Amino acid sequence: MKEKTEFLKREYEQMKKDGLTWTIRGLDGPSTAHVSVDGKKCIMLASNNYLDLANHPKLREATIEAVKKYGAGAGSDWSIAGTMDIHKKLWDKIAEFKGTEAGMTYQTGFAVNAGLIPQLVGKEDVLISDELNHGSIIDGVRLSKADKMIYSHSNMAELENCLKEANKKDYRRAIVITDGVFSMDGDVAKMGEIVELAEEYGAMTYVDDAHGEGVLGNGHGIGREFDVEGEIDFEMGTFSKALGGFGGMLAGSKWLVKYAYNTSRTWLLSAAFPPHVAATNIAALELIDEESHRVKKLWELTEYFKKEIESLGYDTGVSQTPIIPAMIGDSNKAQELANRFYDEGIFALAIVFPMVAKGKARIRNQMNAGMTKEDLDYILNAYEKLGKELDLV
Ligand SMILES: *Cc1c(COP(=O)(O)O)cnc(C)c1O
Repeated sequence: MKEKTEFLKREYEQMKKDGLTWTIRGLDGPSTAHVSVDGKKCIMLASNNYLDLANHPKLREATIEAVKKYGAGAGSDWSIAGTMDIHKKLWDKIAEFKGTEAGMTYQTGFAVNAGLIPQLVGKEDVLISDELNHGSIIDGVRLSKADKMIYSHSNMAELENCLKEANKKDYRRAIVITDGVFSMDGDVAKMGEIVELAEEYGAMTYVDDAHGEGVLGNGHGIGREFDVEGEIDFEMGTFSKALGGFGGMLAGSKWLVKYAYNTSRTWLLSAAFPPHVAATNIAALELIDEESHRVKKLWELTEYFKKEIESLGYDTGVSQTPIIPAMIGDSNKAQELANRFYDEGIFALAIVFPMVAKGKARIRNQMNAGMTKEDLDYILNAYEKLGKELDLV
């Protein structure tokens, strides 16, 4: 190794010592509720595939058919020659799904936040952001030239103070930005109050519904859950979680869409995702209503698991969704528990700093509609046994 790059090894080794490194295991088959991970059969407890759509026959079929018709790649940036009619069909489907005037896609959800947020505001404006917002929002906010105000997590009194402050300073535009479902804790933004407060103070709202789509509002997301569909000014999300596909989505007015694709650098200067990905995503959106039993099952499993793991003595924090953390605290302990789970045939991940604050390490349990109650009982037994061995409960 060259001396100049010694720091890579040194810093990695320090992270490793602090229990802050990822072990990247590889799935050797489809992502479903029961998976094979590095050759070992496991119950999947760590994926965002909430509705078990990632390997659904209808999504597979739609994907294969699109490859036959459109080939493998899009061939160009979205802005030049990469946008195909099947992408545009998906845009219309997004609008229908979200109850908005228009929709569009980006490569990923991350690319929406990083590309769009900095374009919505400038020096004369302010972004008002929840302290626990996702890293992609934080990066989007950092890339903007606007002033920033951060309110304590879901604290509506503080949000109102920020809005008052913003009005005093006479900003040109103010946008309140929040996750819909907070991905590390599994709680839900107080969307009704946020929309109301923003309205009262003349601010706009921007919501990241990545973990809400397929989960909240009968699968349609946070807008429908709080009966504010079409009232959120900027709504983005992803096909890569409950919807089982891939790619970022944006929904809102037709002017938003035109503005977004003419200004977002992550869109203008990057390739369209492959046409078969659009086909996968279209099939997924159709399945949300066609197979509404999946959403129902997901919530039944959620309710059962949360109740049972709490009765074992684990703290699940403020969870209100199929993201049910078991708070551990120490990152090395959380890592050890995750490793022991793997030995037991349970694929669970420890979430540690920097994804959550130091000392707030946890196992993030995520429900999957393809699980059975027996799967959950197996997992709960392991929690009981290992929790005692590792002195957690
Ligand atoms: C996963 C996630 C994203 C990123 O979505 P991708 O399509 O995977 O890039 C953005 N925001 C939140 C809140 C997320 O959980």
